[in-house]
Amino acid sequence: MAAKQDYYELLGVERSVSPEDLKKAYRKMAMKYHPDRNAGDKAAEEKFKAVSEAYEVLSDASKRRQYDQYGHDGLKSSFGPGGFDFGRDFTHGADLQDILGSIFGGGGGLFDGFFGGGGGGGRRQSSRSSGPQSGADLRFDLEIDFEEAAFGSERELTLPISDQCDPCEGSGAAAGSKREACRQCGGHGAVISGNGLFQIRQTCPVCGGEGTIIRNPCKNCSGTGRVKSHKRITLKIPKGVETGSRLRIAGKGEGGVRGGPSGDLYVILHVKAHALFQRREDDLFCEVPVPFDMLAIGGTIQVPTIDGFAKLKIDPGTETGKVYRLRGKGMPNVDGFSRGDLHAQVIPEVPVNLNARQKKALAEFQDASEDSNYPLRNRYMDQAEQFFERRKVIQKN
Ligand SMILES: [Zn+2]
Ligand SMILES: [Zn+2]
Repeated sequence: MAAKQDYYELLGVERSVSPEDLKKAYRKMAMKYHPDRNAGDKAAEEKFKAVSEAYEVLSDASKRRQYDQYGHDGLKSSFGPGGFDFGRDFTHGADLQDILGSIFGGGGGLFDGFFGGGGGGGRRQSSRSSGPQSGADLRFDLEIDFEEAAFGSERELTLPISDQCDPCEGSGAAAGSKREACRQCGGHGAVISGNGLFQIRQTCPVCGGEGTIIRNPCKNCSGTGRVKSHKRITLKIPKGVETGSRLRIAGKGEGGVRGGPSGDLYVILHVKAHALFQRREDDLFCEVPVPFDMLAIGGTIQVPTIDGFAKLKIDPGTETGKVYRLRGKGMPNVDGFSRGDLHAQVIPEVPVNLNARQKKALAEFQDASEDSNYPLRNRYMDQAEQFFERRKVIQKN
C-alpha cells in the first residue's frame, strides 16, 4: 500500500493553520472534488474521501494533536480491530452538514436533486448510531529509566481519556432531543450517484455514514457523545522490558458508549540511555578503566553490574580493548527466567598528577625496560626500517 499523504498537504494548508482557515480550505476542496460535480471520476471520488478524512481529523483538537505528534500511526493503533476507523469515528455530522449545507445551498439544492429519493444501495443497519459502541484502543508513549527496565517498577499515570458523556448518554443529542434520520441518505449512511454506466457508492458526506444527524447537539460534549476525563492508571513495568516493549492494559482505553465495551490502553516504552550500560538484546556492555600498571602485572578490579559490584580478575599483559565476559550478569529477560551476559571492555588509564616518588619509580622502570617488553613497538620499528630500505632501492633506479 502506498504511504498515506500528509493531511495538511492534502488540504494545502500550513501545519499552523487556524480552525477557520482549515474549514475554508476543506470547503474549497470538497466543492472541487465532490462526486456530484465529478460523476464517474474515480480519482475525484478518492480525493474527496481523502480530504474529508483529513478534515475530520484536523478539525478535532485532540485528534489533531495526536496526528501532529505521531502522524498517521497515532490515529490508527496497529493492534488489530478497534483502531481508528473513519466511518465509525466520524463525529462531526453537525459540523460537516453546516459546511456542505452552505456549499450545496441548504436543503433543496443541487445535492438533493441528485441524491433525492435515496434509491438503490444496500440498506444499511443504522444500529451503530443508536446501539452500543465500543471505545477505541489508545496508545501512550512512556519514557522510563534504565533502572526501571532492569528492576521493574510501578508508575502512576494520569491520562486524558474520553468516556461516554453522561447527560446525553453518548447520543450526542441535547437532553429532550434525539438523533434524527439523515435526509441526505434517507438513513442509509451511503449515497449513490452516476449516469447508468458508472455508479459511485460513497459514505454519506452529511451524516458521515451514521444514517442519523444531530440537529441539537449536547452542550456538554458538543455532539460527540464523549467527554475527556483524566484517569489515574497504575502501570506495572516488569523487569527486562526494553525500548519498544508494549504493555497492554485491558479495558483502560477509551470508554464505550451506550453500554459498549471500553477499548484497551497500550503503553509503548522508551528506555533512556544510561551512563554505564548499553544493551543489545539481553546482553549489557560497559567500559572499565583499568590502571596501566594493573594491565601489565595483573590484579583484581571492581566492575559494576546490575547486582552490585563484581570482582574481575585482570590477566597480566592485558591489551587495550580486551573484553571480559561476565556470564549471567546482563539484563533479566522479560520472560522472568533467563539473564544476559555483561561484556566489560578494558580501557587503559594513564595516570596523571604524578608525585616525585611516582616519577622516580617510573624512571627506574624505564631504565630497567628491555626491547622484549614491547613486542608491538619492536614489530613497528622493523616495518619502518623495511620501508626506508625499499625507498633507498627505488630512488636509486
Ligand atoms: Zn446521511
Ligand atoms: Zn453529551
